Amino acid sequence: MSVVSEYEESKAVAEKPLLQVRNLCKYFPIFSSGLVRRQSGLVKAVDDMSFDLARGETLGIVGESGSGKTTAVRSILRAIRPTSGEVLYNGRDRSIDLATISDKELKPLRQQMQMIFQDPFSSLNPRMTVGDIIAEPMVIHRIGSKNEREEKVIQMLEKVGLKGEHRQRYPHAFSGGQRQRIGIARALLLNPDLVVADESVSALDVSVQAQVINLLQDLQDEFQLTYIFVAHDLSVVKHICDRVAVMYAGRLVELAPTEELFADPKHPYTRALLSAIPNVDPDVRLAPKMSGEVADPANKPPGCSFHPRCSDCFAPCDKEEPQLLEVAPGRFASCHLYKKD
Ligand code: SF4
Repeated sequence: MSVVSEYEESKAVAEKPLLQVRNLCKYFPIFSSGLVRRQSGLVKAVDDMSFDLARGETLGIVGESGSGKTTAVRSILRAIRPTSGEVLYNGRDRSIDLATISDKELKPLRQQMQMIFQDPFSSLNPRMTVGDIIAEPMVIHRIGSKNEREEKVIQMLEKVGLKGEHRQRYPHAFSGGQRQRIGIARALLLNPDLVVADESVSALDVSVQAQVINLLQDLQDEFQLTYIFVAHDLSVVKHICDRVAVMYAGRLVELAPTEELFADPKHPYTRALLSAIPNVDPDVRLAPKMSGEVADPANKPPGCSFHPRCSDCFAPCDKEEPQLLEVAPGRFASCHLYKKD
Protein backbone atom coordinates (compact mmCIF):
# COMPACT_ATOMS: atom_id res chain seq x y z
CA MET A 1 0.00 0.00 0.00
CA SER A 2 1.36 3.46 -0.91
CA VAL A 3 2.06 6.10 1.76
CA VAL A 4 -0.84 8.23 0.42
CA SER A 5 -3.40 5.40 0.59
CA GLU A 6 -2.15 4.42 4.06
CA TYR A 7 -2.67 8.02 5.15
CA GLU A 8 -6.18 8.08 3.58
CA GLU A 9 -7.10 4.83 5.33
CA SER A 10 -5.91 5.96 8.77
CA LYS A 11 -7.75 9.31 8.29
CA ALA A 12 -10.97 7.45 7.41
CA VAL A 13 -10.54 5.17 10.46
CA ALA A 14 -10.01 8.19 12.77
CA GLU A 15 -13.37 9.63 11.67
CA LYS A 16 -15.28 6.50 12.70
CA PRO A 17 -16.49 5.68 16.24
CA LEU A 18 -13.83 3.85 18.24
CA LEU A 19 -16.08 0.82 18.53
CA GLN A 20 -18.99 -0.41 16.39
CA VAL A 21 -20.75 -3.41 17.95
CA ARG A 22 -23.21 -5.17 15.65
CA ASN A 23 -25.61 -8.02 16.55
CA LEU A 24 -23.23 -9.33 19.22
CA CYS A 25 -24.31 -12.68 20.72
CA LYS A 26 -22.71 -14.85 23.37
CA TYR A 27 -24.50 -18.13 24.01
CA PHE A 28 -23.36 -20.85 26.40
CA PRO A 29 -24.55 -24.41 25.72
CA ILE A 30 -26.22 -26.39 28.52
CA PHE A 31 -25.55 -30.12 28.58
CA SER A 32 -27.76 -32.81 30.10
CA SER A 33 -26.27 -34.92 32.87
CA GLY A 34 -25.96 -38.66 32.49
CA LEU A 35 -23.78 -41.06 30.56
CA VAL A 36 -24.38 -39.47 27.17
CA ARG A 37 -23.91 -35.72 27.39
CA ARG A 38 -26.23 -33.99 24.95
CA GLN A 39 -26.81 -30.30 24.50
CA SER A 40 -30.15 -29.60 26.14
CA GLY A 41 -30.36 -25.81 25.82
CA LEU A 42 -28.63 -22.46 25.49
CA VAL A 43 -27.99 -19.65 27.91
CA LYS A 44 -28.36 -16.50 25.83
CA ALA A 45 -26.13 -14.34 28.03
CA VAL A 46 -25.80 -11.61 25.37
CA ASP A 47 -28.36 -11.53 22.58
CA ASP A 48 -28.22 -9.30 19.48
CA MET A 49 -26.50 -6.29 21.03
CA SER A 50 -25.63 -3.31 18.77
CA PHE A 51 -24.22 0.14 19.60
CA ASP A 52 -21.47 2.60 18.65
CA LEU A 53 -18.93 4.06 21.06
CA ALA A 54 -17.48 7.46 20.11
CA ARG A 55 -13.87 8.41 20.86
CA GLY A 56 -13.57 10.08 24.27
CA GLU A 57 -17.08 8.97 25.27
CA THR A 58 -18.03 7.27 28.54
CA LEU A 59 -20.76 4.71 28.04
CA GLY A 60 -22.41 3.16 31.09
CA ILE A 61 -23.82 -0.36 30.89
CA VAL A 62 -26.39 -1.03 33.62
CA GLY A 63 -28.83 -3.76 34.59
CA GLU A 64 -29.57 -6.14 37.42
CA SER A 65 -27.27 -8.99 38.31
CA GLY A 66 -27.51 -11.62 35.53
CA SER A 67 -28.49 -9.11 32.83
CA GLY A 68 -25.38 -9.89 30.77
CA LYS A 69 -23.32 -6.71 31.37
CA THR A 70 -20.06 -8.40 32.26
CA THR A 71 -20.41 -11.08 29.55
CA ALA A 72 -21.02 -8.29 27.02
CA VAL A 73 -17.82 -6.41 27.89
CA ARG A 74 -15.79 -9.61 28.12
CA SER A 75 -17.04 -10.52 24.62
CA ILE A 76 -16.23 -7.04 23.31
CA LEU A 77 -12.67 -7.19 24.68
CA ARG A 78 -12.39 -10.79 23.42
CA ALA A 79 -11.66 -12.13 26.91
CA ILE A 80 -14.20 -14.70 25.65
CA ARG A 81 -14.97 -15.42 22.00
CA PRO A 82 -18.43 -14.17 20.94
CA THR A 83 -20.82 -16.70 19.39
CA SER A 84 -21.65 -14.33 16.53
CA GLY A 85 -21.76 -10.67 15.57
CA GLU A 86 -19.17 -8.00 14.88
CA VAL A 87 -17.01 -5.88 17.19
CA LEU A 88 -15.40 -3.42 14.82
CA TYR A 89 -12.49 -1.70 16.56
CA ASN A 90 -11.35 1.40 14.68
CA GLY A 91 -7.97 1.60 16.35
CA ARG A 92 -4.95 3.76 15.64
CA ASP A 93 -4.52 3.00 11.96
CA ARG A 94 -7.02 0.37 10.81
CA SER A 95 -10.42 -1.19 11.43
CA ILE A 96 -10.45 -4.73 12.71
CA ASP A 97 -13.20 -7.12 13.81
CA LEU A 98 -12.21 -8.21 17.32
CA ALA A 99 -14.86 -10.95 17.27
CA THR A 100 -13.13 -12.95 14.55
CA ILE A 101 -9.38 -12.14 14.53
CA SER A 102 -6.87 -14.75 15.64
CA ASP A 103 -5.28 -14.69 19.10
CA LYS A 104 -1.96 -13.78 17.44
CA GLU A 105 -3.48 -10.71 15.74
CA LEU A 106 -5.25 -9.78 18.97
CA LYS A 107 -2.15 -9.76 21.21
CA PRO A 108 -0.65 -6.40 20.09
CA LEU A 109 -4.13 -4.80 20.26
CA ARG A 110 -4.44 -5.74 23.94
CA GLN A 111 -2.22 -2.75 24.77
CA GLN A 112 -4.90 -0.45 23.39
CA MET A 113 -7.76 -2.01 25.42
CA GLN A 114 -7.50 -2.44 29.17
CA MET A 115 -9.78 -3.47 32.01
CA ILE A 116 -10.11 -2.24 35.59
CA PHE A 117 -11.54 -5.02 37.68
CA GLN A 118 -14.33 -5.11 40.20
CA ASP A 119 -12.53 -6.26 43.30
CA PRO A 120 -9.35 -4.37 44.21
CA PHE A 121 -8.63 -7.01 46.87
CA SER A 122 -8.48 -10.05 44.62
CA SER A 123 -7.27 -8.49 41.36
CA LEU A 124 -3.74 -7.76 42.64
CA ASN A 125 -1.31 -10.63 43.20
CA PRO A 126 -0.45 -10.52 46.94
CA ARG A 127 3.01 -12.04 46.30
CA MET A 128 4.15 -9.32 43.92
CA THR A 129 5.32 -5.82 44.82
CA VAL A 130 3.17 -2.97 43.56
CA GLY A 131 6.01 -1.99 41.19
CA ASP A 132 6.07 -5.47 39.63
CA ILE A 133 2.25 -5.57 39.37
CA ILE A 134 2.09 -2.24 37.54
CA ALA A 135 5.07 -3.04 35.28
CA GLU A 136 3.71 -6.47 34.31
CA PRO A 137 2.03 -5.33 31.03
CA MET A 138 5.38 -3.84 29.87
CA VAL A 139 7.12 -7.13 30.69
CA ILE A 140 4.46 -9.18 28.83
CA HIS A 141 4.72 -6.97 25.74
CA ARG A 142 8.55 -6.70 26.07
CA ILE A 143 8.53 -2.93 26.27
CA GLY A 144 11.42 -0.89 27.71
CA SER A 145 14.48 -1.71 29.82
CA LYS A 146 14.31 -2.36 33.58
CA ASN A 147 15.12 1.29 34.33
CA GLU A 148 12.57 2.58 31.83
CA ARG A 149 9.88 0.36 33.37
CA GLU A 150 10.73 1.59 36.85
CA GLU A 151 10.58 5.20 35.70
CA LYS A 152 7.18 4.61 34.06
CA VAL A 153 5.85 2.88 37.20
CA ILE A 154 6.87 5.86 39.37
CA GLN A 155 5.24 8.23 36.88
CA MET A 156 1.96 6.23 36.86
CA LEU A 157 1.86 5.92 40.67
CA GLU A 158 2.12 9.70 40.91
CA LYS A 159 -0.59 10.16 38.25
CA VAL A 160 -3.03 8.11 40.33
CA GLY A 161 -2.26 10.01 43.55
CA LEU A 162 0.20 7.55 45.13
CA LYS A 163 3.95 7.94 45.71
CA GLY A 164 6.84 6.46 43.74
CA GLU A 165 8.19 4.82 46.90
CA HIS A 166 4.94 2.77 47.16
CA ARG A 167 6.28 0.54 44.36
CA GLN A 168 8.33 -1.47 46.85
CA ARG A 169 5.37 -2.39 49.03
CA TYR A 170 2.90 -5.29 48.72
CA PRO A 171 -0.86 -4.91 48.06
CA HIS A 172 -1.88 -5.84 51.64
CA ALA A 173 -0.29 -2.58 52.87
CA PHE A 174 -2.93 -0.51 51.02
CA SER A 175 -6.59 0.41 51.57
CA GLY A 176 -9.33 -0.57 49.09
CA GLY A 177 -9.28 2.83 47.40
CA GLN A 178 -5.47 2.78 47.09
CA ARG A 179 -5.59 -0.73 45.62
CA GLN A 180 -8.07 0.44 43.03
CA ARG A 181 -5.65 3.29 42.18
CA ILE A 182 -2.93 0.67 41.69
CA GLY A 183 -5.29 -1.23 39.33
CA ILE A 184 -5.90 1.99 37.41
CA ALA A 185 -2.14 2.69 37.16
CA ARG A 186 -1.63 -0.81 35.73
CA ALA A 187 -4.49 -0.40 33.24
CA LEU A 188 -3.17 2.94 31.97
CA LEU A 189 0.52 2.01 31.83
CA LEU A 190 0.53 1.19 28.11
CA ASN A 191 -1.45 4.28 27.14
CA PRO A 192 -4.66 2.49 26.03
CA ASP A 193 -7.48 4.03 23.96
CA LEU A 194 -10.32 2.01 25.51
CA VAL A 195 -10.71 1.25 29.22
CA VAL A 196 -13.46 -0.99 30.56
CA ALA A 197 -14.23 -0.48 34.25
CA ASP A 198 -16.28 -3.46 35.44
CA GLU A 199 -18.06 -2.49 38.70
CA SER A 200 -14.71 -0.97 39.62
CA VAL A 201 -16.00 1.30 42.40
CA SER A 202 -18.84 -0.84 43.76
CA ALA A 203 -16.67 -2.48 46.46
CA LEU A 204 -15.56 0.92 47.82
CA ASP A 205 -17.06 3.24 50.46
CA VAL A 206 -19.13 6.09 49.05
CA SER A 207 -16.52 8.80 49.83
CA VAL A 208 -13.71 6.70 48.31
CA GLN A 209 -15.96 5.95 45.30
CA ALA A 210 -16.23 9.69 44.61
CA GLN A 211 -12.44 10.10 44.77
CA VAL A 212 -11.82 7.21 42.35
CA ILE A 213 -14.51 8.48 39.95
CA ASN A 214 -12.96 11.98 39.99
CA LEU A 215 -9.57 10.41 39.32
CA LEU A 216 -10.96 8.43 36.35
CA GLN A 217 -12.46 11.64 34.92
CA ASP A 218 -9.17 13.57 35.31
CA LEU A 219 -7.24 10.75 33.65
CA GLN A 220 -9.78 10.59 30.82
CA ASP A 221 -9.09 14.24 29.97
CA GLU A 222 -5.33 13.85 30.29
CA PHE A 223 -4.99 10.61 28.29
CA GLN A 224 -8.00 11.05 25.96
CA LEU A 225 -9.51 7.79 27.09
CA THR A 226 -12.76 6.17 26.01
CA TYR A 227 -14.55 4.36 28.84
CA ILE A 228 -17.13 1.62 29.15
CA PHE A 229 -18.37 1.75 32.70
CA VAL A 230 -20.27 -1.32 33.90
CA ALA A 231 -22.31 -0.70 37.04
CA HIS A 232 -25.46 -1.72 38.85
CA ASP A 233 -25.46 1.58 40.80
CA LEU A 234 -27.29 4.11 38.65
CA SER A 235 -26.20 7.09 40.75
CA VAL A 236 -22.55 6.32 39.86
CA VAL A 237 -23.46 6.08 36.16
CA LYS A 238 -25.34 9.38 36.32
CA HIS A 239 -22.23 11.12 37.56
CA ILE A 240 -19.67 9.80 35.08
CA CYS A 241 -21.36 8.65 31.83
CA ASP A 242 -22.26 10.52 28.64
CA ARG A 243 -24.71 7.79 27.54
CA VAL A 244 -26.27 4.80 29.24
CA ALA A 245 -27.09 1.35 27.83
CA VAL A 246 -29.64 -0.62 29.85
CA MET A 247 -29.55 -4.43 29.61
CA TYR A 248 -32.20 -6.94 30.59
CA ALA A 249 -31.84 -10.73 30.23
CA GLY A 250 -28.98 -10.40 27.74
CA ARG A 251 -30.63 -7.77 25.54
CA LEU A 252 -30.07 -4.06 25.16
CA VAL A 253 -33.45 -2.52 26.03
CA GLU A 254 -32.62 1.20 26.11
CA LEU A 255 -29.74 3.42 24.98
CA ALA A 256 -29.80 7.17 25.57
CA PRO A 257 -27.80 10.24 26.61
CA THR A 258 -27.52 10.12 30.42
CA GLU A 259 -29.45 13.30 31.23
CA GLU A 260 -32.33 12.36 28.91
CA LEU A 261 -32.49 8.82 30.26
CA PHE A 262 -32.75 10.01 33.86
CA ALA A 263 -35.22 12.81 33.02
CA ASP A 264 -37.47 10.76 30.73
CA PRO A 265 -36.82 7.00 30.70
CA LYS A 266 -38.60 5.35 27.75
CA HIS A 267 -38.46 1.65 28.61
CA PRO A 268 -40.60 0.34 31.51
CA TYR A 269 -37.57 -1.58 32.83
CA THR A 270 -35.46 1.61 32.94
CA ARG A 271 -38.30 3.37 34.76
CA ALA A 272 -38.44 0.55 37.30
CA LEU A 273 -34.65 0.63 37.79
CA LEU A 274 -34.72 4.38 38.37
CA SER A 275 -37.54 4.00 40.86
CA ALA A 276 -35.23 1.85 42.98
CA ILE A 277 -32.84 4.80 43.54
CA PRO A 278 -33.62 6.44 46.89
CA ASN A 279 -34.91 10.00 46.40
CA VAL A 280 -35.26 12.55 49.17
CA ASP A 281 -37.52 14.88 47.17
CA PRO A 282 -41.18 14.12 48.13
CA ASP A 283 -42.42 15.85 44.93
CA VAL A 284 -40.64 13.39 42.66
CA ARG A 285 -43.15 10.79 41.40
CA LEU A 286 -41.59 7.43 40.78
CA ALA A 287 -42.73 4.49 38.71
CA PRO A 288 -43.87 1.43 40.64
CA LYS A 289 -41.03 -0.82 41.80
CA MET A 290 -40.52 -4.16 40.03
CA SER A 291 -41.87 -7.40 41.34
CA GLY A 292 -40.71 -10.88 40.38
CA GLU A 293 -37.33 -12.28 39.48
CA VAL A 294 -35.06 -11.29 36.62
CA ALA A 295 -35.71 -13.51 33.57
CA ASP A 296 -33.57 -16.65 33.33
CA PRO A 297 -31.44 -16.28 30.14
CA ALA A 298 -31.56 -20.10 29.78
CA ASN A 299 -35.34 -20.12 29.76
CA LYS A 300 -36.61 -16.73 28.70
CA PRO A 301 -40.33 -15.97 28.65
CA PRO A 302 -41.79 -15.77 25.13
CA GLY A 303 -42.12 -12.35 23.47
CA CYS A 304 -40.64 -9.54 25.54
CA SER A 305 -38.50 -11.10 28.32
CA PHE A 306 -39.62 -8.36 30.69
CA HIS A 307 -43.37 -8.97 30.20
CA PRO A 308 -44.00 -11.02 33.41
CA ARG A 309 -42.73 -8.04 35.46
CA CYS A 310 -43.99 -5.17 33.31
CA SER A 311 -46.89 -3.00 34.52
CA ASP A 312 -47.41 -1.73 30.92
CA CYS A 313 -47.69 -5.23 29.38
CA PHE A 314 -50.34 -5.44 26.63
CA ALA A 315 -51.52 -7.75 23.83
CA PRO A 316 -48.39 -8.37 21.72
CA CYS A 317 -45.89 -8.41 24.60
CA ASP A 318 -46.03 -12.14 25.47
CA LYS A 319 -45.86 -13.18 21.80
CA GLU A 320 -43.53 -10.90 19.83
CA GLU A 321 -40.00 -9.96 20.85
CA PRO A 322 -39.58 -6.17 20.45
CA GLN A 323 -36.63 -4.84 18.43
CA LEU A 324 -34.37 -1.92 19.36
CA LEU A 325 -35.70 1.16 17.51
CA GLU A 326 -34.80 4.84 17.46
CA VAL A 327 -37.76 6.27 19.39
CA ALA A 328 -36.47 9.88 19.48
CA PRO A 329 -33.31 11.45 18.01
CA GLY A 330 -30.34 9.62 19.55
CA ARG A 331 -32.62 7.53 21.78
CA PHE A 332 -33.22 3.83 21.36
CA ALA A 333 -35.64 1.46 23.12
CA SER A 334 -36.92 -2.04 22.49
CA CYS A 335 -40.54 -2.01 23.60
CA HIS A 336 -43.87 -2.50 21.81
CA LEU A 337 -45.07 0.82 23.27
CA TYR A 338 -42.93 2.46 20.57
CA LYS A 339 -43.65 0.07 17.75
CA LYS A 340 -43.47 1.73 14.33
CA ASP A 341 -46.02 0.84 11.66
FE1 SF4 B 1 -43.54 -3.94 28.80
FE2 SF4 B 1 -44.52 -4.82 26.49
FE3 SF4 B 1 -42.66 -2.93 26.51
FE4 SF4 B 1 -42.04 -5.43 27.20
S1 SF4 B 1 -42.71 -4.74 25.18
S2 SF4 B 1 -41.39 -3.60 28.25
S3 SF4 B 1 -43.88 -6.07 28.25
S4 SF4 B 1 -44.75 -2.79 27.32
